[in-house]
Amino acid sequence: MSATSPPKDAPPPVETAPEASFAETALKLGGKSEDEARRMGAIDRADDQVEHLFQPQYQTVNSPIHRAIWERQLPVELFEASHESTPPDVRQVMSQSLEVVRRNRHAGTLFNSEGKIAESVLQELAGVGYWGLLVDRQYGGYGAPLRSFMSFLTQMALVDPTTAGLASVHGCIGAVDPVRTFGTEEQKERFLPRLASGEKLSAFALTEPCAGSDLTALRTRARLEDGRYLVTGEKLFITNVVPGRTIGLVCLIDDKPAVLIADLPERENDQFKLVKYGLHALKHTYNRGIIFKDFPVPAENLLRVTKGNGLTIAYHGLNLGRVALCATAAGNMRLMLASMLPWSKFRVTYGEAIAKRELVRRRLARLAGLIVACDALVAWCSTLLDQGYRGEMECIVAKIFGSESQKEAAIELFMKTHGGRAFLHGHLFGDQVHEFLAPCIYEGEGEMLGMALFKSLVKQHGTQYFEPVGKALAAAGMKTFSPANPVHAWKLRKALVPYGTWWVSEGFAHKWRTELGPMADDLREHALVAIRGLQSLPLEISATMRKHQLKLADRQCRMSELSSRVQKLVVMLATSLYAAKQNDETVRMAADVVCQDLARELNGKRPSDRYFRSMNDLGAKIAGGGFASIAGLHPDEILMKYET
Ligand SMILES: Cc1cc2nc3c(=O)[nH]c(=O)nc-3n(C[C@H](O)[C@H](O)[C@H](O)COP(=O)(O)OP(=O)(O)OC[C@H]3O[C@@H](n4cnc5c(N)ncnc54)[C@H](O)[C@@H]3O)c2cc1C
Repeated sequence: MSATSPPKDAPPPVETAPEASFAETALKLGGKSEDEARRMGAIDRADDQVEHLFQPQYQTVNSPIHRAIWERQLPVELFEASHESTPPDVRQVMSQSLEVVRRNRHAGTLFNSEGKIAESVLQELAGVGYWGLLVDRQYGGYGAPLRSFMSFLTQMALVDPTTAGLASVHGCIGAVDPVRTFGTEEQKERFLPRLASGEKLSAFALTEPCAGSDLTALRTRARLEDGRYLVTGEKLFITNVVPGRTIGLVCLIDDKPAVLIADLPERENDQFKLVKYGLHALKHTYNRGIIFKDFPVPAENLLRVTKGNGLTIAYHGLNLGRVALCATAAGNMRLMLASMLPWSKFRVTYGEAIAKRELVRRRLARLAGLIVACDALVAWCSTLLDQGYRGEMECIVAKIFGSESQKEAAIELFMKTHGGRAFLHGHLFGDQVHEFLAPCIYEGEGEMLGMALFKSLVKQHGTQYFEPVGKALAAAGMKTFSPANPVHAWKLRKALVPYGTWWVSEGFAHKWRTELGPMADDLREHALVAIRGLQSLPLEISATMRKHQLKLADRQCRMSELSSRVQKLVVMLATSLYAAKQNDETVRMAADVVCQDLARELNGKRPSDRYFRSMNDLGAKIAGGGFASIAGLHPDEILMKYET
């Protein structure tokens, strides 16, 4: 099954006593409390169960990043993005949607009196098919390929980033993805047409006051009574939640996470209340807490999964949301770049426009590089998802890079270039700074996700080679294993043979040369550096696992550091391959500079003069109007203008 093609009707879940997962066993052996081991085991099992939704060739062990590191030949074709091929009617929905938002923006009717996207705009968007883009055609939607949808979100973000974000909230993390992927035929027929037409907009209610990063701490519960579930509990930070809308609601049923699709009443009542608070981020849409007290949801609204539970459903949608977030970041950063150009040409200091200064040009070049790298990740990840890959690690790379780039762009490049004016009311930075920072937190905080990436990366290696050793250790009554200790080696000899064989063969392994297609020399060099870097990692990763053994889960900084290196190499590879196929020379130059930056972050070398020259040349080119994808954007007026 692919990420975009839902499975056949799922029969009710068969409840069996859960087997201890790899994480659970390792944590118990590593001296963690029963409770922590059980909690991590639950997360690990939910993750395993997501895997089962995908055909073996699309599961994590066969994903591009996993294969790039653990196989002898890096499958370079799996890092290439497909060309965008958008069906004509989908293209029409997209262009009409852009037109609706543009028109309302110009007319000053985009927001209501509370500063939120106006209901009339949401309805106009419904009229042109915006909310049905990701819903399959047989249920009244357009079944847009993710490759097209995600690039379109970047375009929408150029007109209005909040509207772009809402398409992801509704279609990726909201009710659309859970129902189309996990719903029965009856549930799809009941919910999807209304979600596609925009009659019902949707949200996803997962986070609780006590459960954000730690999803095993959920407390909202539902109990079955007279053919309906009665939900009691509290949700926090739920985007797009408004009375009358539809939510994917994660709650505990019989102590297990489950997802109910709940139609919210038109008004608050004793069973359903909204919690209102001031929130700086997502200020143009509603984000509320929800309190449920015996809130009734029909029993037939429970999404059933053959393997897994509500977290399985949540993880599936979050994957898509993470790419969408990177796509929106690519739009936001273009808005920043477009705003920096007129200002840096206008602002003269010491007799020269700042656009002519190296430091400012370097910022323009760096920003263009971040934009191109985000475009590359969006194109690559959405290609994988369309092909049917789970793409969890790849989507995590896109999410972290997109959100961190947007943060860096906002603070280091955009704010610094605009100086004091950045803080004036009415300035894009001052007005939107929270929007630029919040993506680092929602849909998974970056460092937590980085550790999740590392765990996915080492899971199979651990299960194959370390789990038998761990079990043998426990059987021998030993806490740790020292390879230098002959008694240890003798006691564990049987369990150690497969690992020893792997280690020796990896040490002498001949890594197959990866053939790259035609590319400019600089981009080829970046791709080769990335390939060599990824291919050199197995022994180091394995040595880290061996060194820390059952305590590895506590070595968060080490996991984070290794994960961060993997991420950088992956971004380099995806960006250089993507840029090699672009006709626009400025895009290729931007890819070159961002790859040079990544290479230096990895090798710790000081920047060369050649690097500074290339930054300066690119910055000058961009200042001269050379970055085509921001042409036509109309940045806000320069504030506090003065006579020149
Ligand atoms: C603008 C916005 C919109 C949102 N929209 C939605 C939505 O639509 N639906 C929804 O369900 N949720 C939503 N959220 C919630 C969001 O997903 C959570 O805020 C996020 O998952 C982090 O959870 P938390 O805030 O509870 O952080 P916490 O769990 O309190 O964690 C705080 C920090 O502690 C650190 N930390 C936590 N655990 C560990 C650990 N084990 N090891 C090391 N460090 C750790 C991490 O750095 C983490 O960021 C939204 C949040 C915001 C800000």
